[in-house]
Amino acid sequence: MGSEINAGPMCVLVTGGSGLVGKAIEHVVQKEGGKHEGEQWIFLSSTDADLVDVGQTRAVFEKYRPTHVIHLAAKVGGLYLHMRENLSTQNVYIRDNIKINDNVLQTAHDMGVTKVVSCLSSCIFPDKTTYPIDETMIHNGPPHDSNFGYSHAKRMIDVQNRAYFQQYGHRYTAVIPTNVFGPYDNFNIENGHVLSALINKTYKAKKEGTPVNVCGSGAPRRQFIYSLDVGRLIIWVLREYEEIDPIIVSVGEEDEVSIKEAVDMIAQALDFKGKIQFDTTLSDGQMKKTACNSKLRRYLPDFTFTPLKEAIKMTCDWFMTNYDTART
Ligand code: NAP
Ligand code: GDP
Repeated sequence: MGSEINAGPMCVLVTGGSGLVGKAIEHVVQKEGGKHEGEQWIFLSSTDADLVDVGQTRAVFEKYRPTHVIHLAAKVGGLYLHMRENLSTQNVYIRDNIKINDNVLQTAHDMGVTKVVSCLSSCIFPDKTTYPIDETMIHNGPPHDSNFGYSHAKRMIDVQNRAYFQQYGHRYTAVIPTNVFGPYDNFNIENGHVLSALINKTYKAKKEGTPVNVCGSGAPRRQFIYSLDVGRLIIWVLREYEEIDPIIVSVGEEDEVSIKEAVDMIAQALDFKGKIQFDTTLSDGQMKKTACNSKLRRYLPDFTFTPLKEAIKMTCDWFMTNYDTART
């Protein structure tokens, strides 16, 4: 790794360390030998510092003096949260996320952080595009309307990474995960992403003997990736990946499934035998956003992704065991 400034063991600051992806990285670090001897890993939540605020960002960096940063913190939400807020507060998504990203990257620069790995998302890709989408196509046209604020703010991370390299030679890079799910996700029915919202809906429907209401037609297709796989891959990127250009972190195109197929897996995992109905008056959002993982495969031809059915089952089991403390 380009560790010309910090030669000793890494001190890794993980922003957004209390979220879905942050908790997965913490698990890999603590339970799967992801931490090397002498290293320090710090997982931040918004209560440690509101990263929208530059003073709080500087204070938390000064407290821990990281050599490396994994930057996950973001104001995020599923399709329907984005669409609702589109009408009134889409501007908040742009401004808060731009501020968070700029505060983190510039403070990292000011404090001589060797490497930053930030998190983009496959929903920031152009809406009108050819498929599969790859890393070179991020800026080739406007993103989907439903989350344009979040998407434009995220795209700027890639622009800033290039600028920090050009001007200072910093190795600040980014990963582009497709749809992530797993333990510690936001399982809120109104605001969550599709799998977590549907796991909660199905769990409730089973308890109450009611049907599960799936939003939209069930036809849109997504590449779902288990959060622990994302955690393992982000740690690999931190240690091994030398490029500034981002890398898509996703299962293959052949593993893309429809929302309907995913709901059926949830029903099976929760042993739900009731009715599943599709509310076609609600938006489908992007019909697909198929991403190409060939770059990742060139680096890691043998990486094994957790099979979707197995990962959904583990997430359902986690949700039921942790229902009282899960984000619902
Ligand atoms: P998440 O579960 O919603 O967690 C968000 C994290 O950001 C939490 O730790 C939260 O802290 C922190 N945060 C939010 N606002 C903050 C602020 N103003 N100051 C400091 N911290 C703040 O999100 P996630 O799903 O793990 O997402 C992590 C990253 O992956 C994000 O950058 C997201 O865009 C990207 N991503 C996610 C997906 C997905 O499907 N979930 C897909 C692709 C990319 P609190 O817990 O204190 O609120
Ligand atoms: P996206 O992948 O960025 O569009 O975000 P989501 O994780 O919110 O997934 C949205 C897709 O799942 C759309 O096709 C929705 O129609 C579908 N979907 C079905 N039921 C739900 C639900 O209960 N919540 C959410 N967020 N999406 C749902």
